[in-house]
Amino acid sequence: MSESILNKSIEIIKGIGAIRLKQFRVLGIRNIGDLITYYPRAYEDRTVIKKISDLIEGDNCSFIGTVSSFERDVRIRKMALYKVKVKDNTSQITLVFFNQHYIRNVFFVGKTFVFYGKVEKKRGMIVVENPSFTEYSKNKLNDIACIVPVYSSTYGLSQNVIRSTVEKVLSKSIASVEEFMPKSLRDELGLVPIDYAIKNIHMPKTREYFVKARKRLVFDEFFLLQLALFSIKRDNDIKNNDMKMDIKDECKEFITNLPFNLTNAQKRTIREVLSNMKSDKMMNRLIQGDVGCGKTIVAIIALLNVVKNGYQGIMLAPTEILAKQHYETLTNMLSPLGVEVGLVVGRMKKREKRRIQDRVMVGQVDIVVGTHAILQEDIVFDKVGLVITDEQHRFGVQQRATLGKKGGTPHVLAMSATPIPRTLSLILYGDLDISLIDELPPERKTVKTLVISDDKRERMNNFIREKVKEGRQVYIVCPLVDDSEKQDLESAKGLSKRLMEHDFRDLSIALIHGKMRANEKSEIMQRFKDGDIDILVSTTVIEVGVNVPNASIMVIENAERFGLSTLHQLRGRVGRGDKEAFCVLITQNGSCDNKKRMDIMKETSDGFVVAQKDLELRGIGDFFGTRQHGLPDLKIADIYKDIEILKKAQIVAQKIMDQGSVMDKYPKLMEEVQKRFLRKLNEGIILN
Ligand code: ADP
Ligand code: MG
Repeated sequence: MSESILNKSIEIIKGIGAIRLKQFRVLGIRNIGDLITYYPRAYEDRTVIKKISDLIEGDNCSFIGTVSSFERDVRIRKMALYKVKVKDNTSQITLVFFNQHYIRNVFFVGKTFVFYGKVEKKRGMIVVENPSFTEYSKNKLNDIACIVPVYSSTYGLSQNVIRSTVEKVLSKSIASVEEFMPKSLRDELGLVPIDYAIKNIHMPKTREYFVKARKRLVFDEFFLLQLALFSIKRDNDIKNNDMKMDIKDECKEFITNLPFNLTNAQKRTIREVLSNMKSDKMMNRLIQGDVGCGKTIVAIIALLNVVKNGYQGIMLAPTEILAKQHYETLTNMLSPLGVEVGLVVGRMKKREKRRIQDRVMVGQVDIVVGTHAILQEDIVFDKVGLVITDEQHRFGVQQRATLGKKGGTPHVLAMSATPIPRTLSLILYGDLDISLIDELPPERKTVKTLVISDDKRERMNNFIREKVKEGRQVYIVCPLVDDSEKQDLESAKGLSKRLMEHDFRDLSIALIHGKMRANEKSEIMQRFKDGDIDILVSTTVIEVGVNVPNASIMVIENAERFGLSTLHQLRGRVGRGDKEAFCVLITQNGSCDNKKRMDIMKETSDGFVVAQKDLELRGIGDFFGTRQHGLPDLKIADIYKDIEILKKAQIVAQKIMDQGSVMDKYPKLMEEVQKRFLRKLNEGIILN
């Protein structure tokens, strides 16, 4: 069989030379298949043709006009400006072109063109600036006044070039696109064939064609991704657990000796985790729970059980600060039970690193805590039984393999404080089992949230001073590090200076931000924990996971600059002790939207509600990129806007998986799943 045209380089297209090749490569387009699945990001609807007298400000439409006058070379600020008047049998309009010298040889009086552009009012006159145009010809009008795709582009590559390149190959190559969706399924779901969809996503004759095309492609994307995730899960479910772990008495004792009672949700989660590792299948589980619900203790118990079964454990954190915190917590709680805990972070002395490498290799260290540096270092483990990732992204099969050079691939447990609705967790974490900690420890007080504007600053400062006198500590979070970046925003450096020199000269104030070296940051965090610092001014570096029970006030400057989920995470840094805690949101922004957002923060302390509202207000793109979660990018589907299609795709995907033997029943479909998503997912997480 000859090679499919889809796999051929775009070089074979007439007009594509070395330069174009490079430009298209920037867009990720190498072969014809890439090109025809490079979907437009928007469309210009040129099908509406108006009479000139009907044009009104704000219109985006086509009109037909005959050139009646041409004025050239009026220069304003080095720009050449051309004014072209065109008319039809109803009226006349002025078109303005900037710097497009070639039009001198195009617009001859008496010639007729079809124009498309935005009608604007400039100095009281209706004009169209830089319209697109094509010479008028009656029998070609349908080709001109059509829906025109707009592609994401790159420097030097014009829309016209992309359009014509796609147009040149589309009809010739479309026959080579194989349908992978069984007809019965397509009929049932009312989906158009794949060739129809691809053709009409680029050049839809009407809006109707476009809607059908898009629906098919969006469905495909969700459906295939969901199938990929479900099939990873299925493979995992049938993989034998070659690291079965008994539930050891030491764990039960440890739980009994805790200074607090576990919540029911924690107990349930621990049961799920431990029985999972004991069962016939490997664990690949996500623990979801709001900030402060107590995920760490669950991790510790899981690790303890792993160690007592004779395996090593790994705990990964996104920052060195958090890694160090976990290291200390784990050491405090587990070393009395004879468990050796080690820390591995990026910046370590060579000798120190060597020492720990040696000890890990021979199994003298039971638990290694660290940042992702662990994965990059050549640490060879003796016998890893469990990897835990805290506040982190998914963990790929590939990565598991690199850790498991000796003794197979370990169990995996991910912990996340980003609460998301079920539909979304199915698409983001469909390959994982999920344990939900939906309960906070009982004594936990809700953090009282206040929203204030600048004029209340004096009162707030008095309040802070009072609380510090009572022995409490304070966080102040700013959107920026330096003053210079943007003038109207509070910066951490500027504010800390002001507080030290004016407002709180008598208090101990420190600054921490993302641009500082890791060990500097850790040192300051340590001093804050030890109570040497009263007020810690920072950027969002403290966002995740850090635990300082004595800190009971969180002030957030320019709160309008942060997403709701971030505000919620920040707020979760306080109220971890038994003292009443406060979150003060300072905002100058009086817009309706901002007020709505601040009200949500005041009214609810439930992370799920906050996340849901955040989604509604901002859309999924801002809420979290799929990339952040280690998922491949979606080309056309929008998890939020297309939520109904997503739900349908999930139901169908589940149904298909439940039937079993999918490979035999749907070979083409599963091949497409493999091609589009499985390979990428197995390669693993994208580190940031
Ligand atoms: P997160 O889920 O945000 O990671 P942590 O695990 O850091 O939360 O727990 C926050 C604090 O709550 C810790 O100081 C921890 O010791 C404490 N904690 C955890 N579980 C309980 C509980 N059941 N009762 C009281 N305090 C608890
Ligand atoms: Mg945590």
